[in-house]
Amino acid sequence: MNATGTHTARLTDARRVVVKIGSSLLIHKENGELNREWLESLAGERAAMIASGQQVVLVSSGAIALGRAYLNMQPGQRRLEEHQAAAAAGQVLLAHAYQELMGAHGIKVAQVLLTPDDTEHRRRYLNARSTLSTLLTLGAIPVINENDTVATSEIRYGDNDRLAARVAQMIGADCLVLLSDVDGLYDKDPTRNDDARFLPEITELTEDIIAMGGGVQTAFGSGGMITKLKAAQIAMESGCNMFIASGKIMHPLSTIEAGEARFSCFLAKDTPRNARKKWIAGSLSSAGSLILDAGAEKALSTGKSLLPAGVMKVDGNFERGDLVTLISNDGRELGRGLSA
Ligand code: GLU
Repeated sequence: MNATGTHTARLTDARRVVVKIGSSLLIHKENGELNREWLESLAGERAAMIASGQQVVLVSSGAIALGRAYLNMQPGQRRLEEHQAAAAAGQVLLAHAYQELMGAHGIKVAQVLLTPDDTEHRRRYLNARSTLSTLLTLGAIPVINENDTVATSEIRYGDNDRLAARVAQMIGADCLVLLSDVDGLYDKDPTRNDDARFLPEITELTEDIIAMGGGVQTAFGSGGMITKLKAAQIAMESGCNMFIASGKIMHPLSTIEAGEARFSCFLAKDTPRNARKKWIAGSLSSAGSLILDAGAEKALSTGKSLLPAGVMKVDGNFERGDLVTLISNDGRELGRGLSA
């Protein structure tokens, strides 16, 4: 057994990985400046992951902290508009740093700023999803943050843990890594309890597990353990394994891969593909139906795509992203799918 205990899920096996980077790792607390050395070590790791065929998406915090220092803001300046101003200034610095440091390893980056509207409303969700998958196809790493400059307090995530989980769900990632200043889940706050027990693997988010996150909000940086457990819930349901690991070391991901650092792993209940199928089958009501000819029915049953020529009739009113039912010409339901 290595330092991590025995984990069922491995980062190296993941095809699509979302890595969330907390502000406490990127920014020096003393002066609010970027920790370039750490980001450089991460850039090297990303290059190795991409070279090994993995697709990587980054969700990065840090804009507000960087912007506050850059604009010489005082500790008391914490109104919403002051946060938004800080985010506007800091996001430029953040994006520039990623471009420069990843660029040194031949990696292209692209900035994507999201609000809950983009992940919770289906049509915007589909748009954002297409943009992200196009970027990945073009070989660029999306660097995502919440669009803090326009998000109001009522409609913002406020923490990048849940945003990262939504992104993982959106792109069908099979692994989400939350890098912050905490190395995993404990049964009680380890900063106050010497006997706190570390949990290496979690297969079910029971009430007991959720309660473990409850008391440790302030000890663990901005999002706290509660938002990490909420992220775990989204990830596990979406077929994505989630790791909580400490980024307070150089090369954190290689260290995890080598089994030299411990982390908590929340195991996915299913594959991303099956989770999506279940979501389609279970949570949406059909907005219309397509009546197919025998040729189209045969093509679908052998796994081929549906071509317009095979559609005899269209019923209902639906738009992109709506669920439609596929019906044979003798009235049998053949399947369900999302309209593209
Ligand atoms: N979006 C915020 C920022 O870039 C960070 C949110 C968080 O720390 O989770 O500063």
